[in-house]
Amino acid sequence: MNDNVLKKEFSKKDVQRARNLVKGNTSARTTEGIGYTKKHEHHEEGEVWEESGRKWTIKNGIKQNITKMDKFKKIGTLPLFCPTCNTLMKKELDKKVFPAYQKCFDCIIDYEAELQKQNRSEEYFKNLRNQHVNSLIEEYEFFMQDQLKQSNNSYVTEAGDVENWKGGKSKKELEQELQEGLEFLKNMKIK
Ligand SMILES: [Zn+2]
Repeated sequence: MNDNVLKKEFSKKDVQRARNLVKGNTSARTTEGIGYTKKHEHHEEGEVWEESGRKWTIKNGIKQNITKMDKFKKIGTLPLFCPTCNTLMKKELDKKVFPAYQKCFDCIIDYEAELQKQNRSEEYFKNLRNQHVNSLIEEYEFFMQDQLKQSNNSYVTEAGDVENWKGGKSKKELEQELQEGLEFLKNMKIK
């Protein structure tokens, strides 16, 4: 290798490195190992990143695991066809009623008319609602545990900086908020 080639390679790397510095991207790998230093992780609200094989984001300033969030959000997802009559559920009403009833709107009308005839509708509605609320509570408790576990380790501020909890005051607040959510759900049950 002659001197000129060597010089050329170095200057190329240097230019790339300078570019990264200007862009504030100091952790960017310019080329094999050269100039690479791991930066303190900085994440912003809404950003999605991977860490220890799991996906994370920051929502309302709190670091959250997306996989679990997705699971929580899945309540109320809609299959294409009604399991009872096998017709395509395309009405807006179908989307609204399916999570609680597990059938399309037309099927619910038929079924409830039949129950009314037999005087069994009150018990039916109560059970239906409580079943739905119970599944919400189950998911919510899972979500709660996850939130609290994460807050034990670190807290991500709105600006995206990772902070450890100090004094535990904020954690208590979070705990209280989550508990209130749980009470709200529990009160949705019909006694
Ligand atoms: Zn149906």
